[in-house]
Amino acid sequence: MFSGTAYTQLTESLRRVHALGSVGELLSWDEQVNLPPGAAEQRAAQQAALAGAIHAAASDARIGGWLAELEKALASLDDDQRAVVRNARRDYDRATKLPADFVREKAAQGSRGYHAWAKAKAADNFADYAPVLERNLALSKREAGYLGWEGREYDYMIDRHDPGMNAAAIGRLFDELKRELVPLGRSIAQSPVRPRPEILRGFPVEGQRTFLREVTARLGFDYDRGRIDVSLHPFCTGTGSDVRMTTRFKEDEPLDSLFSAIHETGHGLYEQGLSPPDLGTALGIHAGMAVHESQSRLWENQVARSRGFWRCFEPRFRGMFPTQVAGVSSEDLHLAINAVAPTLIRVDADEVTYNLHIILRFELEKKLFAGELRVDRLPSAWRDSAQALLGLTPPTDREGVLQDVHWSDGSFGYFPSYCLGNMLAAQLWYRILQLRPSLEEDFTRGDFTWLLAWLRENIHAQGRRFDLLTLTRRVTGEELSPRHLVRYLRERYGPLYRI
Ligand code: ZN
Repeated sequence: MFSGTAYTQLTESLRRVHALGSVGELLSWDEQVNLPPGAAEQRAAQQAALAGAIHAAASDARIGGWLAELEKALASLDDDQRAVVRNARRDYDRATKLPADFVREKAAQGSRGYHAWAKAKAADNFADYAPVLERNLALSKREAGYLGWEGREYDYMIDRHDPGMNAAAIGRLFDELKRELVPLGRSIAQSPVRPRPEILRGFPVEGQRTFLREVTARLGFDYDRGRIDVSLHPFCTGTGSDVRMTTRFKEDEPLDSLFSAIHETGHGLYEQGLSPPDLGTALGIHAGMAVHESQSRLWENQVARSRGFWRCFEPRFRGMFPTQVAGVSSEDLHLAINAVAPTLIRVDADEVTYNLHIILRFELEKKLFAGELRVDRLPSAWRDSAQALLGLTPPTDREGVLQDVHWSDGSFGYFPSYCLGNMLAAQLWYRILQLRPSLEEDFTRGDFTWLLAWLRENIHAQGRRFDLLTLTRRVTGEELSPRHLVRYLRERYGPLYRI
């Protein structure tokens, strides 16, 4: 254990940068939950001023000095300290290697891109959006170049979200997954069993709110250190002792609000499980977006779509909504909870076909960065892939290439995290079941403490000590693989859809 002043000073300054960043998160949360419509401009000014302060703190030359000193003394640091230094170097390089005028240009382009995308989507006009994508691609490549990733620009985009991951490794995993999922999706689509989620209608919002709060508290979300509110798009932000999540309510889609809240609870439990004194360092930050998504997906899918979970909560659900579920059998309810049907729209997709939407985007991004696909050919490439993967051809670009916001501000390389998270969730699930075969009986009793304690110890408390692949290997004893996801989907949906 190295106890020099450079290490202490470094971690103190990282905590300060984190504290400033968390103020920014709080402002963004407030913007989506509370902000009066007339306050948007004032909020933008607050955010810009804060962004300047965060950048100044994160690029403080003294951090560079402490890092240089510590990197010379790596042999005297313990493993945790080395992880802290490694992660701080990565953040410091990103804060200092991008020229200020490039950062300004990118921020301005991000906001212009968003508005151009929204307009193009509303008008279903890809031609107006194409120049934005061209510029965003060029900016992304320049950014990768500044940070020393020439020739590996798409890998850089991926590594930003999932440290240590790259396009070749993802391509191998996705190819294997695709071979299994395309036929599985087709068989389910051809099954005579038809879920009818539309039988769940007219659920008062107040009742839904009470029910989902009871459920999420039972799963382990600590409402003394977090809260849930309403926003247009559900999200989760904040960390440690102050985690803010949101959901949305529709009277005729009670499962949407519930499962959105459970998904965000999975993110929230991860953040509440990070070590508060270590926030801002590698010991108190999540391991990347794929690991984050594995936590939300595990609670949303493996846990909350299971029979055991509903044996616990169905009586309460029926007790709270007696008239709404009067004619709905337990089997109909379970089928509605596990409805699978291919759709053109990613955010509406079920857990089987969702992964195909991600593979489609990953393959197109990879070709764009490799120069194998021109931006003006994107709409037709999208249609071809949608037909090949989902068996559907979007009649409009609004239901195809224009549907997602991500590329409008240059967020390339983000999509794969969703699918990698699904893979990891399933792989963790089978490891957990080996250790605790009676897990679903715990759920039936409404007891989620064993599961949460295991995730706390093996995933949450690890912070960013390990990257996705290393963490997977350490926790499950094998390499990250799509086999577990395929097995899980077959085991869950095979009997349900009689295939
Ligand atoms: Zn999520």
